[in-house]
Amino acid sequence: MKYDYVIVGSGLFGSVCAYELTKQGKKILVLEKRSHIGGNIFTENVDGIQVHKYGAHIFHTNDKYIWDYVNSFVEFNRFTNSPMANYEGELYNLPFNMNTFYQLWGTKTPEEAKAKIAEQCKEMDGKEPSNLEEQAISLVGRDIYEKLIKGYTEKQWGRDCKDLPAFIIRRLPVRFTYDNNYFTDRYQGVPIGGYTKLIEEMLKGVEVRLNVDYLKDKDMYQNLADNIIYTGPLDEYFDKKLGNLEYRSLEFKTKVLPQENFQGNAVINYTEQDIPFTRIIEHKHFDPVTTKHTVVTEEYPSEWKEGDEPYYPINDDVNMKLFKQYRELAKSENVIFGGRLAEYKYYDMHQVIRSALNTINKEDE
Ligand code: FAD
Repeated sequence: MKYDYVIVGSGLFGSVCAYELTKQGKKILVLEKRSHIGGNIFTENVDGIQVHKYGAHIFHTNDKYIWDYVNSFVEFNRFTNSPMANYEGELYNLPFNMNTFYQLWGTKTPEEAKAKIAEQCKEMDGKEPSNLEEQAISLVGRDIYEKLIKGYTEKQWGRDCKDLPAFIIRRLPVRFTYDNNYFTDRYQGVPIGGYTKLIEEMLKGVEVRLNVDYLKDKDMYQNLADNIIYTGPLDEYFDKKLGNLEYRSLEFKTKVLPQENFQGNAVINYTEQDIPFTRIIEHKHFDPVTTKHTVVTEEYPSEWKEGDEPYYPINDDVNMKLFKQYRELAKSENVIFGGRLAEYKYYDMHQVIRSALNTINKEDE
């Protein structure tokens, strides 16, 4: 055999596997369908600005081992995600915290804010929430629901909050401190110079073939190596013979603007129903650079249809049943299936790295 492993996909899962196996002296071939490496964390350099091509990515974890691991490839900055919400031209800090409550009601102490929220939640007193709207009101009251949750959630799901199940938001984090840091993890940041650099470092010295769809010539590639690691969509591997696994998708409209600073923040959510996008990302704030221009992306949630990028798996009963049937088929293949598409699972970056490391450790046993 020419290679020890053929790895299908150069996203984080495939790249961590390629790095770890190369370190063990294995000969690896990585195949990538797209014209670039990195999968969905790919960042593209647009005149000096690192643009997150497939959605904004912020690395955050409590796992020190994983944080040290990624920092051994590239240096991370101290970016802290502090998104804002724009509702009909008014600006609010997120996640819901003392700043938000002050902006909404003028409350200044935790006691005042707690009393205000309790008064607002009374509307649902005693009633079991039967949909997402009632659930949100029972947790944070009508003001926060109407201004900061309703429009955004309806755009995200393409449905009225009254028609969405309550369980979607079991919990709504409310903070009684003046803390705009969205994540609660110990470690957070963005690679200086972009995520593509992280992947380039992992794939240093590894043979990578771009613009190659493994599934178009599966038999030929299977003959090149004893072992295959596949990180593409599970249903596509089986030619969708049992049906489509469904996703929510996103459309991005990206513009270069002839100004230094468009919105002063990396992420601003638009929480009213009438604005069709959910948020605007201004990429240069993730990894600050001094340029006379800026790049912004409007994000539009959309129903996934054949040919769209699959972003968020819909892990409802119907899709999970189908996934399990595909997983049964996968057992009889001599292939390792891993990563967000092959496992039909939403993974944060630190989780997908951990999963790839576990996969390689199992190979060693
Ligand atoms: P992918 O990155 O999808 O890699 C799979 C690769 O396989 C792709 O390059 C694909 O082209 C290739 N491939 C597929 N089929 C074939 C084939 N037949 N032949 C050859 N190649 C093939 N995580 C965070 O921690 N923080 C965030 O802020 C964050 N933001 C996100 C925002 C969005 C919009 C989304 C959707 C995800 C976000 N994530 C975030 C999650 C993160 O993107 C994933 O954890 C990570 O990208 C998963 O890596 P992967 O290798 O499993 O999949």
